[in-house]
Amino acid sequence: MQTESSARKLDGKATAKAIHQEVAKGCAELQENHGVRPGLTVVLVGEDPASQIYVRNKEKSATEVGMKSEALRLPADTSEAEILDTVRRLNDDPSVHGILVQLPLPEGVDSQKVIETIAPEKDVDGFHPYNTGRLLTGLPGLVSCTPFGIIELLKRYEVPMSGKHAVVIGRSNIVGKPLAVLLLRENCTVTICHSRTQDLPGIASSADILLAAIGRPAMITREYIKPGAVVVDVGIHRVEDEATCRELFGDNERRLRAVQKRGATLVGDVHPQHMLERASAYTPVPGGVGPLTIALLLQNTLQAARESVGAAS
Ligand code: NDP
Repeated sequence: MQTESSARKLDGKATAKAIHQEVAKGCAELQENHGVRPGLTVVLVGEDPASQIYVRNKEKSATEVGMKSEALRLPADTSEAEILDTVRRLNDDPSVHGILVQLPLPEGVDSQKVIETIAPEKDVDGFHPYNTGRLLTGLPGLVSCTPFGIIELLKRYEVPMSGKHAVVIGRSNIVGKPLAVLLLRENCTVTICHSRTQDLPGIASSADILLAAIGRPAMITREYIKPGAVVVDVGIHRVEDEATCRELFGDNERRLRAVQKRGATLVGDVHPQHMLERASAYTPVPGGVGPLTIALLLQNTLQAARESVGAAS
């Protein structure tokens, strides 16, 4: 049976749509008042299929909101020196306000070096140490899109954060760490957990807001979730067989059909039925955190373009 639930869905798709509309309006205003059209360039090295889809989506979304959008597709054997030259050329191009180098880069290329070559004011992924340092110090700057999107979602749904215990599972530089800092900025009491944490279920189940960025399908089961907690699921994984689909989603016809007809459905790091059973509010997968990442990338690009003409809000 599919679990009946009164938990509130935090709809990332709808929130992302609203942000896209706000960014489109901001782009039109910037064009009208300053003659500047925000420009986003995404650099893709190699043929990684998932990266190709991400880059296509970013390119399309940027165009839709009225940005000048470009994807530079470089062959997999492009040398590190050539990638760095490309980034430097984009740094010097005044029509480019945002530069994103799609990760992962091919083996042998030092990703950190590439990230640190991006001009911090064009670093719309928010990965440059200048921007992560500013985030840590509480100064304005470009913030990593996925964590930024999560905070935006929680704010727009008026989820109380001040004084609440937020437990972040995962400490990556792109999700876990910046997310923890942003939650601290919202006055949460923050605990960061990782693969060496002892008694993870005990700590997780003390969270008012539980945020899972682990990369392990449906690992967070009911014993990790305090009844009434707000659960944010960052993970994205494909479920390709019917037995696993039934175990995770019960008799959910839509999910089963997706596996049968399209070959897969998606699940996060949190067990979907257990989440519905316990949480007071939750982000679905798909349609939760995922769509917000691109929305905040566009917002960051608009911010970078505004700052380039001294029109930051
Ligand atoms: P990483 O692999 O970089 O980090 C995973 C983190 O989870 C690490 O800190 C690791 O701990 C921790 N971890 C792994 N296993 C366990 C465990 N058994 N118990 C406790 N902690 C554990 O992943 P990312 O942060 O890049 O991504 C996390 C998830 O979010 C992935 O599923 C990814 O696909 C998804 N994602 C989704 C995005 C979106 O737009 N929705 C964007 C980015 C990521 P340790 O540090 O000790 O190794």
